[in-house]
Amino acid sequence: MNLQTSSSILDASIPQIHTMLLKPTFNLSLKTLISTKTPSFFLNCSSCRYRSLKPLINPIPNFTSPPHKSPHHFSTVAATTTADDGTTPATKQRLYITNRQQPQQQLQMSGKAEKRARRESPSGKLLYLLGRCSRDNNIEEALRLYDDAVINNVPLNVEHYNKLLYLCSSSDTDLGLRRGFEIYKQMESGNSECKVVPNEATFTTMARLAANKEDPELAFELVKRMKEGGISPKLRSYVPALLGFCKKGMADKAYEVDCYMIENGVAAEEAELTMLLRVSFDSERTDKVYEMLQRLRASVRQVSDDTAGLIEDWFRSDCAAGVGVVDWDVRKVKEAVVKGGGGWHGQGWFGKGKWNVARTEMDETGVCKSCGEKLVCVDIDPLETETFASSLSTLACQRETRADFLQFQEWLQKHGPFDAVVDGANVGHITQNYFVFNQLKSAVNSARRLSPSNKLPLVILHSGRVKGQHIGSPKNKTTLQYWKESGALYVTPQGSNDDWYWLYAAISSKCLLVTNDEMRDHLFELLGTSFFPRWKEKHQVRLSVTKEGLKFHMPPPYSIVIQESEQGSWHIPTVIGDDFETRRQWVCANRTKH
Ligand SMILES: [Zn+2]
Repeated sequence: MNLQTSSSILDASIPQIHTMLLKPTFNLSLKTLISTKTPSFFLNCSSCRYRSLKPLINPIPNFTSPPHKSPHHFSTVAATTTADDGTTPATKQRLYITNRQQPQQQLQMSGKAEKRARRESPSGKLLYLLGRCSRDNNIEEALRLYDDAVINNVPLNVEHYNKLLYLCSSSDTDLGLRRGFEIYKQMESGNSECKVVPNEATFTTMARLAANKEDPELAFELVKRMKEGGISPKLRSYVPALLGFCKKGMADKAYEVDCYMIENGVAAEEAELTMLLRVSFDSERTDKVYEMLQRLRASVRQVSDDTAGLIEDWFRSDCAAGVGVVDWDVRKVKEAVVKGGGGWHGQGWFGKGKWNVARTEMDETGVCKSCGEKLVCVDIDPLETETFASSLSTLACQRETRADFLQFQEWLQKHGPFDAVVDGANVGHITQNYFVFNQLKSAVNSARRLSPSNKLPLVILHSGRVKGQHIGSPKNKTTLQYWKESGALYVTPQGSNDDWYWLYAAISSKCLLVTNDEMRDHLFELLGTSFFPRWKEKHQVRLSVTKEGLKFHMPPPYSIVIQESEQGSWHIPTVIGDDFETRRQWVCANRTKH
């Protein structure tokens, strides 16, 4: 592969074209988040999903001054009372002593004592036992404990209820359904002494119960009630209603839930869009099938094998054969493509008759091996990159020592921009568990050859790497010195996470990043799914070691995203794992030109 040519593709950007690919409504997360100053922009939707819906743990409220009630009134309030009543005399004694001597310590001790008392109260014990039932999925035992607690007037808080309801919603028996609704009713009615306010987890679990009852209307109603009660529903809160309607083939009701989600700023992800795609396909709502494909393109980009299968089924169907216009306004379509940033037009189905559908691959230049069409490269708006870089800097300053990171930015201003940034630690570790300096050196030289002006790439290395045994021979020391004097080496300080440094350098320089790090760990999760994956696809250079030496794997010269051509054909990429040498499968759907 000609490295020089590949790298130049990145430079051949079309900065005027906006790449805001999403329709305004689906664009919500990106646009609103960009406008916020705090880097909440980076909060990743997927990390908030919590599909498994384990009962949430809420802190039991602290009561500082226990009211004097009868000892039979067990509650979180009673927990403290119990302690003061002398069930734990040692603690009480300790409290008394520290009260007089060290106020600071006293606070600590009383906190501990309170915690212990809470844990040992009937309420606390019940919570613990319910947690065990939840772990063992033992609904019978949980219900027995609940019935006992009711008889003995053990007050329940939202955590108890959530654990119970969760177990009921996970059970596929009638018992779970029946008792679940009964417990919820009890929770809602409560009593004056112990009013329990349901939270997001409660409503979501109830929505699941409603879905188990095959009552998506109720599931939807619960989400609305949650919203009206000032609790923001999460994506998982909507899923029972959406799935329920889709299963029943009630397309219009499913779209209603979908609209409600959009209005409330909750973005459907692949699973939800696929449900909507399926219900639209089954109910022959061809306009909606089109909409879902566009939304998958804008937000999901690459689909799972299952979704790809469903899309293939759609294109092979008689229904799909019947959609499409034969004459379309070529100029209008071209305009729409430019306006949309490239790779789609959104003007509806084009063509006539059966679609040719194939699973295929792209060649290195992005030409479809099935239909011969060339895929496009969708550029990233430079403005979007700048916004991202500045949010990244804010986040890095919070996570790293602020002064260190600011110093690095100053250094970058002076020595940058670069044509490539090398993640030194990763590159030095590609073949071995230990750091191989020569490998890094060889990668730096290869990266330099990619630069149109033969500029050295920026090497980021942690301070721990530039000392002693990591460096080895004096020759290597000389190389390091040379890089340093050329303004091509930045050593990150002790205690820093160098990931922030190389990532920021590459993004702010809008240049290539040489690393085999797939950038999936916690730090990168913070970067969200809206911009970062697109940036990575276009800028990451990966390395492999061959007999001939290091091989650079350049970013593809086309975008790995669902593409709709000006002629109306579709190319849908599937996701692949971390092995970048695996060939990616695409669904190609096109129509014979008449
Ligand atoms: Zn094709």
